[in-house]
Amino acid sequence: MENDYYQILGVPRDASQEEIQKAYRKLSRQYHPDIAGKQYEDKFKEINEAYSVLSDPEKRAEYDRGGSGFSGGAGGAGFSPMNFTDLGDLFGQFFGASPFGAGAAGSPIPRENRGGDEITSITVSLKDAVFGAEKQIEIGTYGKCPTCKGTGSKSGSAPVVCPSCHGTGVKQQVQRSILGQIMTTVPCPQCQGHGTVIPDPCPQCQGTGRIRVKRTVQVKIPAGIEDGTRIKLVGQGEAGQLGGPAGDLYIEVRVSPDKEFTRKGQDLHCWLSVPMTWAALGARTAISTFDGEKELEIPAGTQYGQTVIMPGLGLPKSEKERGDIVVHVQIEIPTSLSSEQKELLEKFASSHDSGAEGNMQAAQEMKPKKGIFARMKDALKGE
Ligand SMILES: [Zn+2]
Ligand SMILES: [Zn+2]
Repeated sequence: MENDYYQILGVPRDASQEEIQKAYRKLSRQYHPDIAGKQYEDKFKEINEAYSVLSDPEKRAEYDRGGSGFSGGAGGAGFSPMNFTDLGDLFGQFFGASPFGAGAAGSPIPRENRGGDEITSITVSLKDAVFGAEKQIEIGTYGKCPTCKGTGSKSGSAPVVCPSCHGTGVKQQVQRSILGQIMTTVPCPQCQGHGTVIPDPCPQCQGTGRIRVKRTVQVKIPAGIEDGTRIKLVGQGEAGQLGGPAGDLYIEVRVSPDKEFTRKGQDLHCWLSVPMTWAALGARTAISTFDGEKELEIPAGTQYGQTVIMPGLGLPKSEKERGDIVVHVQIEIPTSLSSEQKELLEKFASSHDSGAEGNMQAAQEMKPKKGIFARMKDALKGE
């Protein structure tokens, strides 16, 4: 035989399984291509091939009998299994973590598991968005089980080593394929890859260490918050399994529309109807803002749609500065006039310049004429 598997691993022909494993670990560490370099790839394959045969008592016996099916050469066809268990082990030893994922790499999956993140929403008023607020939200989530304090075991008991996988968390499977035999490891079905089993689970949480709870969370809504902003509360999500760290809680903040004010950036806009005499002569009035009643001065000669600014009553722009309230003025034209009022207005009209009168007449003449869209609408309605 060209390549002696015993020679490759540097062990005597009567070496025990332990000796073979020890030799393999040492060599595979030494010749791993990621460590030793690409030029050792073949040597590494050879070591793995030798180990895959000698570590299996059945194959070893066949090999000892000089059985066929062994390529006897590095990279040869027929038999080139890679033992992923030991590879993963190797990476774990060198880098502290396995690139193949826990369980499949031969190390048990920790029972502790980080809790999931939660998302919930809260609706606040526009006033809360202006000044900020402290709110309480009740959430349904996972909390640590109070009976077992998150351990998952009934009081007085503890997890024990899994009898099926002896604590490794994995089981080996050999599959035959056209490429030869492939040895893979799968998480142990009895312990789900944890390497331990809980013989006496806590009756309240069924061994998970957590239960569904309702919890009240305090949340600070910052002043100036925009609709749809998410606030993250670290560690306020689901409790982890068996004492694992908790997930995070995200709170989506919805700002409900206000009856009086509309937000535009850091400013608040509102509409105010004033009698036409106020618009013409000017007036002082008060409007209720989020800061309480505030005086507003309508300047004489205010036109329809003109804006009046109330500075510093909007949303915060910075720690010291706030946006404004922008008041859009609407002018009420009286719909019914007493004969006295009519007389006064007519007097006013005749004292006003004649150009305005001409405009009024022109406006009256325009009125019966309908625009093309209005006529189309009427046609559709069948009028
Ligand atoms: Zn419990
Ligand atoms: Zn197991």
